[in-house]
Amino acid sequence: MISIYNKSMEEYFQTLKRNKLKITPRRKAVIGLFLKSGMRMGPYDIYNKLKQKLPKIGLPTVYRILDELKKAGILVQSLSSDRQLCYALCDSPGTHHHHFVCRKCKKVDEVNFCNFKGISEFIKKNLKAKVETHHLQIEGVCSKCK
Ligand SMILES: [Zn+2]
Ligand SMILES: [Zn+2]
Ligand SMILES: [Zn+2]
Repeated sequence: MISIYNKSMEEYFQTLKRNKLKITPRRKAVIGLFLKSGMRMGPYDIYNKLKQKLPKIGLPTVYRILDELKKAGILVQSLSSDRQLCYALCDSPGTHHHHFVCRKCKKVDEVNFCNFKGISEFIKKNLKAKVETHHLQIEGVCSKCK
């Protein structure tokens, strides 16, 4: 599968550096895996694929790397239909946007659009509360799987 991401490995290295994370072979392998697949994957998928290249890697290490990359904004977390935590690579870390995941092929697309304002105003008016953050999980069927 051809990568859907515009970013190169080098740009993710810059993001790692900005987040004071060293470029280790393991972190590199995880980012490379996502860049190549363009898909949303669960920790077990990632672990099984990484083991082919890095036989010594353990599942706890994989979990730790996924968490580090999530905190750096390189990966985004979502739940699969069977409520499993999954990860997808983000093309533009640090900007507010959303992601579309195809429930059939698990391909991830960037959604550089957010129309949350109406909901924020509704909450402000009806709950007298101030919205500080929101997460949106958007799923469906991509153009190829339709
Ligand atoms: Zn993104
Ligand atoms: Zn699809
Ligand atoms: Zn939004």
